[in-house]
Amino acid sequence: MILRRIRAIFLLILLMFIIFFAFRGLSFFRKDFISSKKVIVIDPGHGGKDSGTIGFNNSYEKDINLDISKKLYKKLKSMGYKVILTRATDEFIDNNTRADIANKKRARVFISIHGNAIENNNTVNGVQVLYYPNRESTINDPNSDSLAEIILDKLLEETGADNKGIVDRPDLIVLNQTKMPAIIVECGFLSNENEEKLLLTDDYQDKIVDSIVNGLENYFELNLDN
Ligand SMILES: [Zn+2]
Repeated sequence: MILRRIRAIFLLILLMFIIFFAFRGLSFFRKDFISSKKVIVIDPGHGGKDSGTIGFNNSYEKDINLDISKKLYKKLKSMGYKVILTRATDEFIDNNTRADIANKKRARVFISIHGNAIENNNTVNGVQVLYYPNRESTINDPNSDSLAEIILDKLLEETGADNKGIVDRPDLIVLNQTKMPAIIVECGFLSNENEEKLLLTDDYQDKIVDSIVNGLENYFELNLDN
């Protein structure tokens, strides 16, 4: 009789342990799953020996890209996103490695930050977003252009810059080797004296950061529940 009772108590304790650990495992898994939805990889274009384009007054694209990317990183992080920079210093990274980082971290979106330039024409200015067409995604975006469109709209709204549109670029490694919606934000033309000047100010960089953040939030709202 006593033995049976001891066995019953023992089984009850065992059962409680199993339930406890099962729940812990489940909530751990769920937390992991939810946060993996929100990994954002930010890719400051160029770096190290690759300066990118050189501006009207000799600023380096790589430096402006890094400045904007770091601000974007900070802001998104403060909002609770898991954010990864492909580079945080002035170093050279090849484009395949940049894509690999995003794929390994299972990023939900990949955002590459660049500056534009046009040869022998210093009047052209404006913002542009490049994207990879027809990327299969889990978020009901068969053309993979909604992210590009949303972010461009926010950039135009916030900066008042000229609209240079969204452009599909299946030829670019960081876009075609990444397995998630991926865009390149061309923040402005460094070949244009005025736009270069703007891109070097904290104020204008903040506007670009805010536009991208707001665009991402809209994008996630539209897509996360699918
Ligand atoms: Zn570039």
